[in-house]
Amino acid sequence: MIINYIIPMNTSQNNKQTISCPECDTPLKLSLPITVGKIAECPACGCESEVVEINPIKISPLEEEK
Ligand SMILES: [Zn+2]
Repeated sequence: MIINYIIPMNTSQNNKQTISCPECDTPLKLSLPITVGKIAECPACGCESEVVEINPIKISPLEEEK
């Protein structure tokens, strides 16, 4: 029997969840709700990362198309 266990996203005391830039490790702040496909821009190096997975959150740098 399969039980769908839904993990509440609002267990954090803060309204924002911090992840790190894959390029320079600068903390990025994503406003909730965090969804797959959301784009986070790094304030330090300017690179953009896309949320590819949530729970746990995983981001991957966006590559600029030529
Ligand atoms: Zn960065």
